[in-house]
Amino acid sequence: MLITMGEMLIEAKKKNYAIPAPNVWDEFSIRAAIEAGEECDSPVILDGSYEESKGDKAPQIMYEQMLYAIPMAKAAKVPVAINLDHGKTFKQAMIAIKAGYTSVMIDCSSCPFEENVEKVKQVVDAAHAVGVSVEAELGHVGRGTNYAVDGKANLTRPEEAIKYVEFTGVDCLAVAVGTAHGPYIGTPHIDFERLEEIRNAVDIPLVMHGGSGTGDVNLSKAARSGINKVNLYTDLVTAGMNELRKFDLGNEYDFSKAVKVAFEGYKSKIKFYMDLLGSSNNA
Ligand SMILES: [Zn+2]
Repeated sequence: MLITMGEMLIEAKKKNYAIPAPNVWDEFSIRAAIEAGEECDSPVILDGSYEESKGDKAPQIMYEQMLYAIPMAKAAKVPVAINLDHGKTFKQAMIAIKAGYTSVMIDCSSCPFEENVEKVKQVVDAAHAVGVSVEAELGHVGRGTNYAVDGKANLTRPEEAIKYVEFTGVDCLAVAVGTAHGPYIGTPHIDFERLEEIRNAVDIPLVMHGGSGTGDVNLSKAARSGINKVNLYTDLVTAGMNELRKFDLGNEYDFSKAVKVAFEGYKSKIKFYMDLLGSSNNA
C-alpha cells in the first residue's frame, strides 16, 4: 500500500519508534527494501534521489524508476512511502511529485535561516496542494570524513526549530545532533540533550540523517528520543559487499546469483535496523 511519509511518521511518533529509510536506486534495491518490510511487518520508506550527475536525463530516470516502484509499493503487504532524498530545488521537488513520489525532502540547510524558510515554504505549499508530504532540514548534517569539524558545527537550535516548523509547515524535520553522512572518521557523539529539547519544542516527527556507523546503542536510543526516521546507505551497501565477498563467484553463469547474494546482504541489514529501531511488527 502506497501512502505518504507524513502519515507514516505520525504513527511512528505516536508509538515511539523509528523507521529505517534506505537509499534505493534501482529495481533490486526497491524490491529488497519492500521485502525487508514485509518480512519484518514494518512500514517501509524508500529514499530515492534526483540524479543530478545525469544532467538532462535525470527527470527521465526518475519517471522510469517510478514505473516499477509504484506498482511494487501498491502491491506490498505493508505501507510504503516514496520520498525524495535531499531535493535541492523547487524544480527537483516538482519533478519527483510528477513522477509519483508521495513525499519530498527539500534541503536548504546550507542557506541562512530566512532563505531556508522561504524556499521550503514554497515547496510545502505546492506539495500539500497535491497531498504530498515534505521533509526539510534545519541545522546542517555534514560529512563523516570531516567529522572533527562537521560533528559540532551547525547543530539544530531548539528555539529556531519552533519558528522553522511554524513558518514552513513541514511534516517532519531533519535535525543535526551529531550524526554525519558517510563513514565516520572519529567516534560519533550524539547530543541527546539537544535532541530531547527539540523533541519537546516541536510536535512533528524528527529525522536523523547519517545513520550508518552511528552505532546500535546510539540509534536505538535516538529512536526512543523523538527520532522517527533514520536515513541509511553506507551500512547497507557495506553489508551487501561483505556477502558478495564471502560468495564463491563461480563462473559467468553465476552472475545473477551474485547480484542476488549482494542484495540479500543489503536486505538483511535493513531488517536488522527495522528490529533495532522498533518499526518491526508495526505495519
Ligand atoms: Zn542526508
